[in-house]
Amino acid sequence: MKAGKDKVVSLHYTLTVDGEKVESSHDREEQLWVLLGHGQLIPGLETALEGREAGEALEVDVAAVDGYGERQEGQVQRMSKKYFPQANRLKPGMVTVLRLKEGGQRAVTVHKVGMSAIDVDLNHPMAGKDLHFDVAIGEVREATEEELKHGHAHPPGSAAH
Ligand SMILES: [Zn+2]
Repeated sequence: MKAGKDKVVSLHYTLTVDGEKVESSHDREEQLWVLLGHGQLIPGLETALEGREAGEALEVDVAAVDGYGERQEGQVQRMSKKYFPQANRLKPGMVTVLRLKEGGQRAVTVHKVGMSAIDVDLNHPMAGKDLHFDVAIGEVREATEEELKHGHAHPPGSAAH
C-alpha cells in the first residue's frame, strides 16, 4: 500500500538542522504515527511521503518555507512574567512553552528577561531553518473512520478519547 492522503503511516525520523541533530524518534524508542493529509506533518514531509511504502528509508531536505515557515520580523512581544510557569529560570535564547488564552500552547524563544516582564520571539524556534530528515517508514495502512473523524492517527494501544 502506498502512503498518501487518509493513510496512516508509522515512521522513525531524525531531524538535523545545520549539521546538528535536533530530535529523533529513536530517543523515545517509539515510532511516530501520523494521519496523512490532515496537517499533522509539515508540508515538505507530507509531500516526500506521498507514494512511499512500508520499509522504505528516505532522506528529505525541507526548505524553511515548506517546514516551519520563514522568520517574520516584528514578532517580539513583551509579556508579564506571570504567564511563564518557570519565569525565574529563563535566559535569552531558551525555548519555552507559553499557554495561550484561547487554549493550546506555543513554543517561543526568550529574547530578553526584565524585572517583571519577558520579551519573547513568537516565531517558531525552527522558523527560517532548512531541515534535513532521515526517515524510515514502518507501516502504511488505511485510516479508521475514527481517525479520520479526529484528524489524527491512533497509535497501537492508545487510550480511547
Ligand atoms: Zn483521536
